[in-house]
Amino acid sequence: MSFTYGDIRDALADRRGFLSTAGIDYKAIVAASQVHASNVVCVSEKDKGRGALSADTAIPDTDALITNVKRLPLAVFTADCLPVFLYDPFQKVIGIVHAGWRGSKDKISVKAVQLMCDKFHCSPENLLLGFGPALRSCCYEVGREFKNYFPEGIIEKGNRMYCDLSGINRRQLLDSGIKEKNISDSGNCTSCKNFKYFSFRKEGDSSGRMISVIMLK
Ligand SMILES: [Zn+2]
Repeated sequence: MSFTYGDIRDALADRRGFLSTAGIDYKAIVAASQVHASNVVCVSEKDKGRGALSADTAIPDTDALITNVKRLPLAVFTADCLPVFLYDPFQKVIGIVHAGWRGSKDKISVKAVQLMCDKFHCSPENLLLGFGPALRSCCYEVGREFKNYFPEGIIEKGNRMYCDLSGINRRQLLDSGIKEKNISDSGNCTSCKNFKYFSFRKEGDSSGRMISVIMLK
């Protein structure tokens, strides 16, 4: 689904095919450039289509998007990083986050929640969240330095360290007022289920990217 990674020849046709099954116009999606930082941007009607037909027009220097505009689909692209879906059913606001370890270190998911609260008066306890497929702690081996980045969320097995990226995001979100019962997690590991999902860790540079998309009707 990415214009940049993996086999990109059919990216546009693949987007069109997949998004049409959800009633989403592939030309309307708004995408971020995804630079593994923690900038969150509130997008509006004028941004419709940014990143939809070319990577060049995506929202620059950004890894998370929010909006209250109906029929404005927000998208992130991942292979191992955690896609986080956010929805406030009361204020009718949505968000989507590309959360890798760098963004998670800077609490990008929490920053997205905060911007939803600041801009649209959302309340964290009302937000519904979803975690998509990502590299899970079963397969996400990391260096010892991760203990410094994440005091909690690094699992030691013998001499090896594993990063629980979804657990780290979950804990940060609970600390910011999100209700446990309002987080639904697909639980899927991109590496364990590489027959179904792209995994950069498993496939290396040839790995493509999946799309995660959210839209208010
Ligand atoms: Zn796994």
